[in-house]
Amino acid sequence: RAKDAGGNRYELADPDSDARAIDRHSLTNHLPGALERDEFFLEYQPLIRMSDGRVDGAEALVRWKHPVHGRLGPDRFIPLAEHTGLIVPLGRWVLEQAVRQACSWQERYGSARARQDRPLRVNVNLSPRQLHHPDLVQDTISVLEAAGVAPSSLCLEVTESALIGADEDELKPLRQLAELGVDIALDDFGTGYSNLANLRRLPATTLKLDRSFTQGLQRHPADPVDVTFVEGIVSLAHALGLAVTVEGVETEHQADQLRELGCDTAQGWFYARPASADEFAHDWAASA
Ligand code: C2E
Ligand code: MG
Ligand code: MG
Ligand code: MG
Repeated sequence: RAKDAGGNRYELADPDSDARAIDRHSLTNHLPGALERDEFFLEYQPLIRMSDGRVDGAEALVRWKHPVHGRLGPDRFIPLAEHTGLIVPLGRWVLEQAVRQACSWQERYGSARARQDRPLRVNVNLSPRQLHHPDLVQDTISVLEAAGVAPSSLCLEVTESALIGADEDELKPLRQLAELGVDIALDDFGTGYSNLANLRRLPATTLKLDRSFTQGLQRHPADPVDVTFVEGIVSLAHALGLAVTVEGVETEHQADQLRELGCDTAQGWFYARPASADEFAHDWAASA
């Protein structure tokens, strides 16, 4: 602050960066106790099967009800939580909440869906620090067992960049989880330094194509380079036995193109914004 810096008022000339500094300070101060104060909550965004438009599951997305700043999105505090290590207990809380939620949906709507569908599933994001935590496999198994949910009802999303350079030992926990039947999705695929040859040795079951590709398809006519990329990634993924989910579908036009390009599952505002578990159930689970 200007005063701390020797009383030169003119140092406030960049109010934005000043506000950001105060903001970061206040976030850092409140973050450590936020879990005990029960300030985090989850929203769910449906994952839609493109072949028939039915709901396959939902991605759990964490939010923070901050005592001063109100509702904050994960981009505001996940990096900080990752930096301070709070992400480990927070991530475990997210996993537990989401898996319990999946259990409650399955109990309420399972029989209605059973005739033609697999049970509703839940996707949970993992940050790099969680990925490298020695208890990941055991914690995940315990959470699934405590809730009585099948491993195949859980999908763990990890960003491609978190796995870059990972050696066989570092991939082992994910491989063990995949062998148990947990789905592993590569989140934001295509944004990092995608090493396509690397794909073969990752224990992934799904690619989540980043929103930037979806955006390219929105133009009229669609950017031919984006079309070619999506086509290529979809055929490569399918050849490797991976399913393709697309993020950030905002219009019917995008949805139609992505379906034609062979994407399996879609997520985005065109279908639904992230919402409370009750809203999700009201809008989707019952009708699915
Ligand atoms: P992500 O995993 O790629 O999640 C998708 C993000 O795209 C979400 O942002 C979602 O609200 C947003 N989104 C969905 N559909 C659309 C659309 O049609 N258009 C646009 N413009 N955006 C859309 P959100 O909720 O702000 O989350 C941001 C990121 O924070 C997530 O990206 C994920 O990386 C991270 N995150 C969220 N929850 C958790 C968590 O529990 N643990 C960890 N480690 N990371 C989390
Ligand atoms: Mg995700
Ligand atoms: Mg994503
Ligand atoms: Mg993303």
